[in-house]
Amino acid sequence: MQYIVLDLEWNQPITFQGGAYRSSGGKLIFEMIQIGAVKLDENREICGTFNQLIQPSCYLRLHPHIRKMTHITEEDLMDAPQFGEAYARFTEWCGDDCVLLTWGCDDISVFEQNLHYFACETPLKPVCDMQRLFGDVIGNSKERKSLKSAMEYYGIDPNENKAFHNALNDAYYTALVFARLPEPDKVLNYQLKARNLIHQDRRKKTSVAISRVARGQAIALRGQFAQKTPCPVCGKPQKPKVDYVRQQADLFQALAVCPDHGLYFSKLRFFVNNDKKKVMERTTALSEEQNKAYVSTKLIQWQNKLSAQQKAQEEAQT
Ligand SMILES: [Zn+2]
Repeated sequence: MQYIVLDLEWNQPITFQGGAYRSSGGKLIFEMIQIGAVKLDENREICGTFNQLIQPSCYLRLHPHIRKMTHITEEDLMDAPQFGEAYARFTEWCGDDCVLLTWGCDDISVFEQNLHYFACETPLKPVCDMQRLFGDVIGNSKERKSLKSAMEYYGIDPNENKAFHNALNDAYYTALVFARLPEPDKVLNYQLKARNLIHQDRRKKTSVAISRVARGQAIALRGQFAQKTPCPVCGKPQKPKVDYVRQQADLFQALAVCPDHGLYFSKLRFFVNNDKKKVMERTTALSEEQNKAYVSTKLIQWQNKLSAQQKAQEEAQT
């Protein structure tokens, strides 16, 4: 059996108001534009590579962010085969006896959605998640480590001719990591299932819950309801990255980050309800802006606000 390390690049709609999204967005949210793959033999030596650009059929214009990240241009894709042909080439190159490996579960979810949208009948080979196996190696299976951090862990330097965010190059780096894992066959324990990809309406990206306040605001702010705040998209609870900052007498806000959905705001509002009980209402809302620079700046700003507030409190007490 051969291992094939796979990586994809995909395009996304430039606008959710456009005709392409309105007619196809319910079925296709990310359209694949490149398949990169590296084949490894029994000794985990690289014995083949596959690199295929794909001409888009749905979202014809490249999203500026995708163009910038992948360095792929619309001209590059003009002469490329369409999805059905590209996938046929890929399955033929894979052969029969193989398992696919990816870093995390995004690629397979996108791949499955494209297969379904383009009505391809040949099923994808089983796909296993190397990111989970790497998590075991470093003794932290919950946290999802980036490919770059796995490369650092094994002392693998990026090659200056092989930029990241190119499907073939990322597959190549992932293969180098795979070649160093101590018990590679254990990756078979982490077979992936595709997630259903849909664009979520922003209005649904909030959640609200109410809890009784038993012993005052300060204690409530340290309690579970405040400190395990659920991601508004998946509901997974997170400890705030930056703790609650008072915004008004009875309104506090913290910042939290979901590993899958990014930055979100957790707000607590204290009030007395109709039954004359003291309650707090927690609202979580996903940040519209999710780019890395914005998120890190926002976290720093918030941390500064928090520190200033804590300092002011300490001074007031002395
Ligand atoms: Zn989430």
